[in-house]
Amino acid sequence: MPRRKASNSRPTRARQPASRDVEPSAKRRFQNRLLKWYREHGRDLPWRKTSDPYKILVSEVMLQQTQVDRVVPKYREFLSRYPSFEELAEAPVQEVKETWYPLGYNIRPVRLHGIARETVAKYGGTLPAEAEDLLSFKGIGRYTAGAIRSFAFNQDAAILDTNVMRILHRIFIGEGDAKAQKTRLWNLSGSLIPKGKGYDFNQALMDFGATVCTARDPYCLLCPMTELCKSYPFTPDRK
Ligand code: SF4
Repeated sequence: MPRRKASNSRPTRARQPASRDVEPSAKRRFQNRLLKWYREHGRDLPWRKTSDPYKILVSEVMLQQTQVDRVVPKYREFLSRYPSFEELAEAPVQEVKETWYPLGYNIRPVRLHGIARETVAKYGGTLPAEAEDLLSFKGIGRYTAGAIRSFAFNQDAAILDTNVMRILHRIFIGEGDAKAQKTRLWNLSGSLIPKGKGYDFNQALMDFGATVCTARDPYCLLCPMTELCKSYPFTPDRK
């Protein structure tokens, strides 16, 4: 996995209230098992071979609402046509939308194009690494900012999309509606990251949610978390 220079803007995870949710020994076991599972089963994806914030951003925007196998060829095509923020910013937006086809959700290429223009105009073509700056872009929300910070800038930044929400809710909470507990889950996501390992840990969460703790019919019998998991054995009537 690519290693990047760490930024000095890590959150102070130890003080986050959700750390109370998890006993230190359970936290350690979860971290160790997840990272071990990832070393053995992590997916080989093209955006994991780069540390270029532009390419990471393109992959993250494409992955919103689209399956990985559909994203991979389009990711390659898009980057060969627009290899940097500058090239994307100079392209007509209609052409960018056509290149994006058939991924759908046409607002995404428009937003990406807008981010490219703003990055060139305000930041000289280099995406900023700070959460506050990233969140100021139209089209970069809290999840995408966390993904860029951890995958492009190697920060221990929390991420929470539907996959991560589902995993953390099932393992550490096991009751109630996950969507109603977002604040707690965001805090949990940040508090669980092993220091200095945000990149691998967050990538591991993504793969674990996509291939083991899936939305329907999770593979509980093959799961390394059964002993820790408050939802084991998972039954479909759980959320
Ligand atoms: S035991 Fe089942 S529900 Fe729990 S984390 Fe593993 S796959 Fe998910």
